[in-house]
Amino acid sequence: MPARRNTESKNEIFAIVSEKSINAKTQRCEEGKEVQDNKPSRPCVENKTVSRWIRPQIRELSAYPVPDAGGFIKLDAMENPYHWPQDKIEQWLALLRNAELNRYPDPHARRLSDRLREVMSVPADAAMLLGNGSDEIIQMIVMAVSGAGRSVLSVEPGFVMYRMIADFCNMDYIGVPLREDFSLDSEAVLAAIEQHQPAVVFLAYPNNPTGNLFNKTDMLRIIAAAPGVVVVDEAYHAFADDSFMPLLADHENLLLMRTVSKMGLAGLRLGMLAGAPQWLEQFDKVRLPYNINILTQLSAEFALQHAAMLDAQTQQIKQDRARLYTQMQALAGLTIFPSQANFILFRVPAGKAGSVFDELKTGGVLIKNMDKAGPLLRDCLRVTVGTAEENAVFLQTLAKINL
Ligand code: PMP
Repeated sequence: MPARRNTESKNEIFAIVSEKSINAKTQRCEEGKEVQDNKPSRPCVENKTVSRWIRPQIRELSAYPVPDAGGFIKLDAMENPYHWPQDKIEQWLALLRNAELNRYPDPHARRLSDRLREVMSVPADAAMLLGNGSDEIIQMIVMAVSGAGRSVLSVEPGFVMYRMIADFCNMDYIGVPLREDFSLDSEAVLAAIEQHQPAVVFLAYPNNPTGNLFNKTDMLRIIAAAPGVVVVDEAYHAFADDSFMPLLADHENLLLMRTVSKMGLAGLRLGMLAGAPQWLEQFDKVRLPYNINILTQLSAEFALQHAAMLDAQTQQIKQDRARLYTQMQALAGLTIFPSQANFILFRVPAGKAGSVFDELKTGGVLIKNMDKAGPLLRDCLRVTVGTAEENAVFLQTLAKINL
């Protein structure tokens, strides 16, 4: 399968915003007034003015869809299901009481950065850059390399923000399909690199949404061949058995990205990039000042002082992943893909993904339907590993569905 450019596949994933609601709004606009619930409100912006000024790439997009999870067992977003023991919560709150909210935070979050370096074993000669989530780091990197005729390359299926941010920044996106078994088609990636000379290559290790680690030798060949930077995105590192961190010093174009989101701190929004200072000092120029707020700095620093507590949660999730995997394998009609992350991708019989998703939802369990997210993910759904109780409800509900 050839590499696909962004425009071909975007709407497969972001088909959430209903055409109907856009059309209804447009009609109201054409009448000159925005009317909601039969009440006249302020005059709306004329549609053609919007189309004149908002770039087509942005108009074609839908905002990143986040479903309302209220009341559900939430197994859709790869969050860690655990909070902290009460005494830790008290200590943390005591710390926040002294936060100087009237002052801007440390612009470089130095204490937090030092703590992250230690906990994540970042080599002493690597520079570090922090982001408001690793999403913001992807944005900084792409903004810094963007320009006419330049491209971002990744694999499909992969993490959707690589493509979205390439669109935001007016860059071409090259999505090289994985093989049917979700392994890296290194020959196809190398050919696409040769052809498109991408400014940046993103490879998630483990990959989202497939959960597997790509072959390391293949990854190294890609790093050697890439003309620009290769970002190895280790968002799910906590659950995996391998890392590129020890190789950081060996490759000048290798950058390593991590997040604390999957370690139980998704609410803080904190990501980290490590790599050669020559690259990071350039990316730092497009970073908004004070991007890591004071509550995040204090809270993450505190949490990382208790890294053993976070590690114990991660170990629990890994154990529960193994158990859930075995239990899901025992259910007829499913194909379960092995995972080194805190989620499991699985395939249901042809045409059943929508009804399985709906029936789980009716049973109070929210997971992610990946069926429309590209050809390789047909009939696939993704479930996040939750607490033992949450996993049990998911399994019981799934087992009752007629496949
Ligand atoms: N990279 C990958 C592969 C992800 O799956 C995610 C989130 N799902 C992120 C990066 C972004 O993480 P965050 O912005 O929460 O740090």
